[in-house]
Amino acid sequence: MAYLGNPSNTREILEKYDLTAKKKFGQNFLIDSNILEKIVKSADITKEDTVLEIGPGIGTLTQYLCEAAGKVICVEIDRGMIPVLEDTLSDYENVTVVNEDVLKVDIRKLLEEHGSKTAKVVANLPYYITTPIIMGLLESDAPIESITVMIQKEVAQRMQEGPGSKDYGALSLAVAFYSDAQVKMTVSPNCFIPRPNVDSAVIRLDKLQKPKVTVKDKDLMFRIIKGAFEQRRKTLVNALSHSCSYKTEKSRIEDALTEMGKNTNIRGEELTLEEFAILSDILSK
Ligand code: SAM
Repeated sequence: MAYLGNPSNTREILEKYDLTAKKKFGQNFLIDSNILEKIVKSADITKEDTVLEIGPGIGTLTQYLCEAAGKVICVEIDRGMIPVLEDTLSDYENVTVVNEDVLKVDIRKLLEEHGSKTAKVVANLPYYITTPIIMGLLESDAPIESITVMIQKEVAQRMQEGPGSKDYGALSLAVAFYSDAQVKMTVSPNCFIPRPNVDSAVIRLDKLQKPKVTVKDKDLMFRIIKGAFEQRRKTLVNALSHSCSYKTEKSRIEDALTEMGKNTNIRGEELTLEEFAILSDILSK
């Protein structure tokens, strides 16, 4: 089977199986071999590695991953892709395809079933569920070493923002807490069939052995963070006192901010990750 990473081979497979890209599954197939090679290189894949690929589609990136990795486990929601993948991946014996919704898969169990102690995640993600997939992978107790994924360029930027920026929020704080992030490249819509209507980027998140800050109760900290950004234009005190994620009396938040030496009019978007951890520790008392 020839490599799919070009327009003519991709069109041929789509015609052979009478497929059209499904919008509801965020299907945009990669057709640029240069980008495909760069993704695999950015993820530092070796024959020692197990790769977990989310959304193999017709198997374009999967072919490159099978060449580079020891083992590839793919999770694809679209049942219609399964016979296609049997065809396009028929040359490889180191690949397994699981027909599931990745948001419902117990990744730790999946890796254990395949005898893999750790895995690197590599994917051209369906953009409609980028945030839940990445949050799920970061928060998961599964032994994931790194996450190298194609996402919307704008979301990649948001992940790296710090306090004060309009794009700073719960996602950037989760990325900073759990990982070291690096944008590897930006990718034009012309590298896909069909063309998405946004620019894309490949980001690599290296999961940290130990989170970047120490906090007594990380679930509480993330509930506070969520509450702080639900209504980001409000002061932190007002946002939290109206939040569904975290409820406490106004005076407790004001006292906590005063204890931290902060103005009680401060907005959540002005606090760093370290400061959210301190606030959470005070409020957990
Ligand atoms: N990997 C292929 C490529 O690079 O050409 C296809 C990438 S396409 C952007 C996203 C893929 O994710 C599609 O194959 C889609 O069916 C699949 N997908 C969408 N939602 C999913 C989910 N919840 N679980 C698993 N796969 C999903």
